Amino acid sequence: MRLVLLGAPGGGKGTQAKKLIDKYGIPQISTGDILRAAVAAGTPLGKEAKSYMDKGELVPDSVVIGLVKERIAQDDCKKGYILDGFPRNTAQAEALDKVLVGMGAPLDTALLIDVDKDVLMKRLTGRRTCRNCQQMYNIYFSPPKKEGVCDKCGGELFQRDDDKEETIRRRLDVYDAQTSPLINYYKERRILNSVQGVGNIDEIFKNVCAILESKS
Ligand code: AMP
Repeated sequence: MRLVLLGAPGGGKGTQAKKLIDKYGIPQISTGDILRAAVAAGTPLGKEAKSYMDKGELVPDSVVIGLVKERIAQDDCKKGYILDGFPRNTAQAEALDKVLVGMGAPLDTALLIDVDKDVLMKRLTGRRTCRNCQQMYNIYFSPPKKEGVCDKCGGELFQRDDDKEETIRRRLDVYDAQTSPLINYYKERRILNSVQGVGNIDEIFKNVCAILESKS
């Protein structure tokens, strides 16, 4: 199964992707995670990406397209993969299509996880991550037992630089302007499906699986 998860930042793509990995045994390819790892490791790529990420802007297409091309050519992607956070604009979607046609393995489904803007703001501004084990919390929806402390490992919780309010507004604007046109892009290619991304995570996952199973 070759799947693209579409939807605004904070809409739950990463959460659903993690559940899909467990169920279908295919990897998640999150360009955001790859870029954050490069930033944390202080590589040249990370240094270039950080300035864009901290402002809520997109990292240049050439950088992310190269990363994804390399990743989907790896052995563990032979059975399929879940793209999370890529493509982010039409140029990336076209580049992806071109690579996949070349591999003889086009996308099966683009799945939109649909969430209202006000919910997104709370999800994003409320997000806290453990410095030690990367466990995520939300101070509004799923707070830790003790403020600022990870339930799992006792690590310190922090707010990602790109989860600050001003950056979030910019990320949502960038989504509207550059990423949301992909909804039509995949509709025209007849592979778009959508689920409501608000409510219980397991219920949303059930709906996600029902769609994917109806395709296979
Ligand atoms: P995410 O965790 O997917 O919301 O990504 C966090 C940040 O990484 C974004 O705000 C962008 O700055 C950058 N990023 C992630 N994926 C892409 C992509 N496909 N194209 C350009 N920038 C990206």
